Amino acid sequence: MIVLKFGGTSVGSVENFRKVAGIINDVKEPKIVVLSAMSGVTNTLVKLIENLESGDTNNALVQINALNEKYIEVARDLLDDDNGFYKAQVFLNKHHQQLLSMVTEKFTTTVERIIMAEGELVSTNLFQLFMEEHSDSVLLSALDFMQIDKYGEPNTNVIQDRLSKILANHLSKDTFITQGFICRNEKGEIDNLKRGGSDYSASLIGSAVNAKQIQIWTDIDGMHNNDPRYVDQTFSVQEISFHEAAELAYFGAKILHPQSIIPAQEKNIPVLLKNTFKPECKGTLIHNKARSEKIRAIAAKDNITAIKIKSYRMLMAYGFLKKVFEVFEQNKTSIDMITTSEVAISLTIDNTSRLNEITRDLQGFGNIEIDSELSIICIAGDLAQNNKGITSAIFNGLKDIPVRMISYGGSNYNLSFLVKTSDKIAVLNILNQGLFPELKTENALYV
Ligand code: ASP
Ligand code: MG
Repeated sequence: MIVLKFGGTSVGSVENFRKVAGIINDVKEPKIVVLSAMSGVTNTLVKLIENLESGDTNNALVQINALNEKYIEVARDLLDDDNGFYKAQVFLNKHHQQLLSMVTEKFTTTVERIIMAEGELVSTNLFQLFMEEHSDSVLLSALDFMQIDKYGEPNTNVIQDRLSKILANHLSKDTFITQGFICRNEKGEIDNLKRGGSDYSASLIGSAVNAKQIQIWTDIDGMHNNDPRYVDQTFSVQEISFHEAAELAYFGAKILHPQSIIPAQEKNIPVLLKNTFKPECKGTLIHNKARSEKIRAIAAKDNITAIKIKSYRMLMAYGFLKKVFEVFEQNKTSIDMITTSEVAISLTIDNTSRLNEITRDLQGFGNIEIDSELSIICIAGDLAQNNKGITSAIFNGLKDIPVRMISYGGSNYNLSFLVKTSDKIAVLNILNQGLFPELKTENALYV
């Protein structure tokens, strides 16, 4: 079994729906196709929810009707067969009526979650009607097998059990379509795996059926060795290990939801990142057997705030760090990078919504300094300490750039450092020129 997941832009228009169908039909093995909502739809649903919550029924009605018109137009263009279009109209009308009924209903989080699920339910139903005109596919409702527990975590045993029973009812079929993102919670209500959760769905489904491969189709050629928005000569990385992908996903290589590869990694299922609009591009394969590279890729994360706590009480004391970390725990703020000296600790956060409370709670610990507008630069690769020369190559190139913090040795796959965001583009370019032998540049510092 192969799992193919297509993101919002891949199903963003009639033309793209057709492209997706072409890609699926080229896969000559049994497959489960996981779709996101059409691009922009989930954002519209979020706005609709905001309007319902604030009681702005006029705007809510405008949004609901506009969405319905858009869908009818898509169905009309997509479906050649009158019967298919009729079925689409019946389906769309039911969903339109459901949304309209929510305008008068009392707004609750249950209503909110039902609305959030609409995007994926509609995209998959339209796509199934289109597929029915050409080939033989089965639409599976993710609500029949995707299950989260009371902590919002996927219940993998239940998912596996239910999905295998459902598939066993369709032994003669080999193409299944289902929704990403949506699920049921422990109360049996409609729920979701949080924004961007369709990748996670694909990975959970792949793990549940022990898929041979999970393919994530988006609108870029896989993972790049550097950020193409700021650096000219980037290339897509052909293969990468799960460890490296996990480091990079967090640091802003936004192609994958960071959590989403965990189920695939646990079962050792390769994940292939592909471009729907350039299927001929090889893409990036994330797997355990990736040939090791000293430097695989570079990524940056902005909006970082550094907090330094300096205290002579820390010298040779125990339990100091625990108390500092408790402040962050109490303020529900996660820490990204940490460095310590004997008498000081520096750490970074990206969520500053409780910075005032954190600063207040840290007062008793020593002298506090806060710096903002910083960026973390993450270098991923096989950076084990016996790979000599890597750190000198990196920092030689950066001799004119002030570096605020360095973190190395946390894992063998990551070296991160903190710079002013105003230096970020220069840093990304210097490192790109220096660290990738593939580019054969004049400023090479190859390690
Ligand atoms: N449609 C959902 C979102 O935009 C889930 C996804 O596309 O991954 O967040
Ligand atoms: Mg998406």
